[in-house]
Amino acid sequence: MALAKGYAAPAAKAPLAPFTFERREPNDDDVVIAIRYCGICHSDIHMVDNGWGMSVYPLVPGHEIAGVVTAVGSKVTKFKPGDHVGVGCFVDSCTTCAHRDVDREQYMPGLVLTYSGFERGSTTPTYGGYSDSIVVKEGYVLSIPQNLPLDAAAPLLCAGITLYSPLRHWNAGPGKKVAIVGMGGLGHMGVKLAHAMGADVTVLSQTLSKKDDGLRLGANRYYATNDPDTFTTLANQFDLLICTVSSPIDWNAYLNLLKVDGTFVIVGAPEQPVPVNAFPMIMSRRSLAGSAIGSIKETQEMLDFCGAHDIVADIETIAIGEVNRAYERIARSDVRYRFVIDMATLG
Ligand code: NAP
Ligand code: ZN
Repeated sequence: MALAKGYAAPAAKAPLAPFTFERREPNDDDVVIAIRYCGICHSDIHMVDNGWGMSVYPLVPGHEIAGVVTAVGSKVTKFKPGDHVGVGCFVDSCTTCAHRDVDREQYMPGLVLTYSGFERGSTTPTYGGYSDSIVVKEGYVLSIPQNLPLDAAAPLLCAGITLYSPLRHWNAGPGKKVAIVGMGGLGHMGVKLAHAMGADVTVLSQTLSKKDDGLRLGANRYYATNDPDTFTTLANQFDLLICTVSSPIDWNAYLNLLKVDGTFVIVGAPEQPVPVNAFPMIMSRRSLAGSAIGSIKETQEMLDFCGAHDIVADIETIAIGEVNRAYERIARSDVRYRFVIDMATLG
C-alpha cells in the first residue's frame, strides 16, 4: 500500500480538507499514475453535496485526471513510465456481460466510478483525482496525445467525452444545426467539438456576457435565454440540442426549438425531476434523450480527435487550497471555462 495525499469532503456539503489515504498495491495489470492535474466538474459539487443521493464519505472527488505513468504491472502492454495518460469517470466495469463488447460499458450495472464507488468485489471505496497518485487497471487508462498540454487536456476526460459522445451518436456534422445550452465546462467543449465536426453551432446562454468567447470557440450564433424573443426567433430550428444545465429551466420552451424529428439530449444532471409536456414532442415527433460520458474506446477516439484538431479546454488553473472557493464560483457560473487543480500545490 502506498500513502496518497489529497483533499476530501468528510461529509455532505462539508468543505473539502486535506486527507491522507492508501492506494492499493499495483496488480500485474495495473498502471501507477502520478496525477499532475485534475479538472473540477460540476458533478464533483453534486457529489460532495450528495445531491444525487449516492455519495460515500470521506469523498475524494475528481474524474478529469491527467498525469504521468510512474510504474506498470508485469502484464501491462500499452503503457510505460513517462507516458502522458488520463483517467475519466470510471475505473472498472462488467468484465463478462455482452454489452462490454459493443462498447457501452458506461451504461452497465457493474460500472465502478472513479470516486464514491467501491473497488470490484470489495468494500474499499474508490478515491478520485484530487490527489497525488492513483492505481488503475490498464483497460481504463487513456492515452493523452503528446501535443496536448496536460493541464488543459484534463477536462477532456469528462467534459470532453460527455459532449463528444452525443454529438457523434446523433451525427453532428455538416448540414446539422446543433444548439448547446449552457456555456460552462461541458458547454464550451460542446461548442469546440461540434464546430470541429463541421456542424452549425448555436449557443444558448443565460446572457450575452460570454458571446465573444462563444464565437471565438466556434459558435456561429449566440443567444441569451433571458430574452424571451430568443425562443420565438429560434423556434423549430435545430436537429440536435444538448442541454448541459442542471438548474431548473423551462424544458418545454427548449423542446420547441427542435425541428421535426429533432432530439433534445439531457447531459446536465438536475437534482430534481424534469417536468416535460407531451405536446411539444407529439406535434413534431421530437425525442427527449439522455447521454452519459462515453466508453473507454470512445474516450480514446475523442482524445485522438482532440489531438488531431488541437482541441483542449479553456482553463483557469488553481492551487488545491482554493478548491472550496472555486466551487462557490462554479455555483455562480463564474468560470471560464474549467477550473483545473495543479497537484504540485498539494505540497
Ligand atoms: P458548469 O461548468 O457549472 O456549467 C453549467 C452551465 O449551466 C453554466 O455555465 C451556465 O451557463 C448554465 N446555468 C447555470 N445555472 C443556470 C440557470 N439557473 N439557468 C440556466 N442555465 C444555467 O457545469 P458542468 O461541469 O458543465 O456540468 C453541467 C452538468 O452536467 C452538471 O449537472 C454535471 O453534473 C453534469 N454532467 C453530466 C455528465 C453526463 O455524463 N451526463 C457528465 C459530466 C457532467 P451560462 O452561463 O452560459 O448560462
Ligand atoms: Zn464530470
